[in-house]
Amino acid sequence: MLKRCGRRLLLALAGALLACLLVLTADPPPPPEPAERGRRALRSLAGPAGAAPAPGLEAGAAAGALAREVHSLTEYFSLLTRARRDAGPPPGSAFRPADGHLRPQSEPLTPLDVFIAVKTTKKFHRARLDLLLETWISRHKEMTFIFTDGEDEALARHMGNVVNTNCSAAHSRQALSCKMAVEYDRFIASGRKWFCHVDDDNYVNARALLRLLASYPHTQDVYIGKPSLDRPIQATERVSESKMRPVHFWFATGGAGFCISRGLALKMSPWASGGHFMSTAERIRLPDDCTIGYIVEALLGVRLIRSGLFHSHLENLQQVPASELHEQVTLSYGMFENKRNAVHVKGPFSVEADPSRFRSIHCLLYPDTPWCPRTAVF
Ligand code: UDP
Ligand code: MN
Repeated sequence: MLKRCGRRLLLALAGALLACLLVLTADPPPPPEPAERGRRALRSLAGPAGAAPAPGLEAGAAAGALAREVHSLTEYFSLLTRARRDAGPPPGSAFRPADGHLRPQSEPLTPLDVFIAVKTTKKFHRARLDLLLETWISRHKEMTFIFTDGEDEALARHMGNVVNTNCSAAHSRQALSCKMAVEYDRFIASGRKWFCHVDDDNYVNARALLRLLASYPHTQDVYIGKPSLDRPIQATERVSESKMRPVHFWFATGGAGFCISRGLALKMSPWASGGHFMSTAERIRLPDDCTIGYIVEALLGVRLIRSGLFHSHLENLQQVPASELHEQVTLSYGMFENKRNAVHVKGPFSVEADPSRFRSIHCLLYPDTPWCPRTAVF
């Protein structure tokens, strides 16, 4: 009896051993699901095979090369993260500063550190300025200074910081330079850290502006904005009574707004303070915003920092993604290629009621504004 039991036990053990051996020598199981999903994701990140990479998305091509070398899940995740980092943050996920990289705060700023000069003219006080006073300026009166060319009692009652430049009300090169000269002098006298210039068809997102400026030291040379040309402007500068010479430099278009640190503004003084700005503008016979670029880039050798966060109506404003409005520093409206040009944003006001879209943008940024409909769904 005992013998029979022992034989059975022996046979059972031998069977189990054989089964184990069979399992161990069989084909390995398919790779775990996450690894496969990961490689597919990496391939799709690289784009379809043979397709030209989208402009500015060189990271896609890099990811394609990396995909061939992916062996492990850990490796895949580290590569995916790197590829994402190269492509920049996904839209709307984070503050995207001037040079496309996340910038740490350099110094905390308060609204009283910034001097925003709004250039206007008497004939636009009702047509343009009132809209700004109702929207962004209403929230940031302490930062804002209006530079105009005619008395307006209604405006003076509404705002303390109105400067009548006594410049000509014409749209001439000299008249515009005259206003910029007064803006510059007032900024220097204010003692503030940052000078920003905008037109009266600009919406300024002051919170985004403060965030951007806080990432640069105001004591260093900073000139930031957006060029409207795709190459440096070619000009001729008068160097003496009888001598002219070619000069080229980048400039930030005044219609998108630009900012200058106090450190740089002080260095500009020999060419910009007192009456000097007007004579410098005459030296190159170009408008006020070009003259700023000339002083900064050509005379002082400081490079313009390009920012995609400033917008004029010389670009297609429909292309500003609605999801990224909170990050934009300036916006505009007007005409572009003979068509009405404004930001595309869904909001409580129709395009007929709010053609510039500034009221809708304002309600998006400051939903607690009394005149913004409470029930609005954005
Ligand atoms: N402007 C001015 N005087 C004028 C006409 C315009 O100071 O006679 C100002 C206007 O208020 C605005 C800037 O110049 O801030 C640009 O004007 P506009 O938007 O009409 O022209 P753009 O250059 O953008 O086509
Ligand atoms: Mn304009």
